[in-house]
Amino acid sequence: MKRVYNFSAGPSMLPESVLRTAADEMLDYQGSGQSVMEMSHRSKVYEGIIQGAESLLREVMNIPDNYKVLFLQGGASSQFAMVPLNLMNGSGKADYVLTGQWATKAYKEAARYGEVNVVASSKDKTFTYIPKLDPSTFTKDADYFHICLNNTIYGTKYHELPETGDVPLVADVSSCILSEPIDVSKFGLLYAGAQKNMGPAGLTVVVIREDLIGHARDITPTMFNYQIHADNGSMFNTPPCYSIYICKLVLEWIKNEIGGLEKMKERNEAKAALLYQFLDQSKLFKGTVVPEDRSLMNIPFITGDQEMDAKFVKAATENGFVNLKGHRTVGGMRASIYNAMPMEGVEKLVAFMKKFEEENA
Ligand SMILES: *Cc1c(COP(=O)(O)O)cnc(C)c1O
Repeated sequence: MKRVYNFSAGPSMLPESVLRTAADEMLDYQGSGQSVMEMSHRSKVYEGIIQGAESLLREVMNIPDNYKVLFLQGGASSQFAMVPLNLMNGSGKADYVLTGQWATKAYKEAARYGEVNVVASSKDKTFTYIPKLDPSTFTKDADYFHICLNNTIYGTKYHELPETGDVPLVADVSSCILSEPIDVSKFGLLYAGAQKNMGPAGLTVVVIREDLIGHARDITPTMFNYQIHADNGSMFNTPPCYSIYICKLVLEWIKNEIGGLEKMKERNEAKAALLYQFLDQSKLFKGTVVPEDRSLMNIPFITGDQEMDAKFVKAATENGFVNLKGHRTVGGMRASIYNAMPMEGVEKLVAFMKKFEEENA
């Protein structure tokens, strides 16, 4: 068996020990005589899995007691509608910062439901930076303020949160959740598609402050109402059972093998630093993001020559470094180095880039 180093932006690598445990438990989960894929979500055994996943997430992320954890479906993209349907219920206004495609999609969806104000945008420079925010431009009576904390396609992240006062801060954390500690108490709501840092696709995690639940608009579809899922322990209908199980294994890996999110952050910083340091001195490759706003998870880079980019991506693939092609709207390359990418994968990629540079400069 030969496993590649997968730099995909998502779905992405999972820790090998998690995959091994899942393989071991595939036919018979802990003496139950069935696979987790086969068992009733109402069974005692499965209850242990979903409750275990929730309590591990609470512990690892240090989620305060006045927040609910919801295991949903529909991807982060469904949250683009779910957030306004549930939260835009006072003034009917919300503030959005446009830092990339996902933030823009979230904004467009919210604009169908109320008065949405673009506080700032970095579109003028192809989203290569996080705009400086001036609180005096924020909507005072907004129902919430939305950001995308880590911008998967462009490789930027907020290193400082906007000061929104009493207006709840809502963040799409799909591509940075569990990569480092987050102070959950600074947010009204966090949401993430699982397929970057938490597990397989199919699961969407929402962490929501309790007082924001229970005010959905009348037109809100039942399945889009946070209260329905909160009241039913994420079991109003069949949850994404297997994805939640793998997410639990990933959380156990973070807790027991890595040692928590502070340690995870150290690892991620060391990996990112290695690649950024190489890019900063390379004569062939260069990063596209301003240094102060760089992401730990997604690192876009270019050679400045499309043919050379294509040659590099092809050579990399042949050498076991896959999915390095940049997003179709940006071009160039992007290395997504989520939690499960080992240091060794980044070291080998950098060594390969050095060699490619020597041969092609
Ligand atoms: C991947 C991603 C999405 C889309 O997630 P889906 O689960 O495919 O809907 C949204 N926002 C960010 C920041 C992402 O990285």
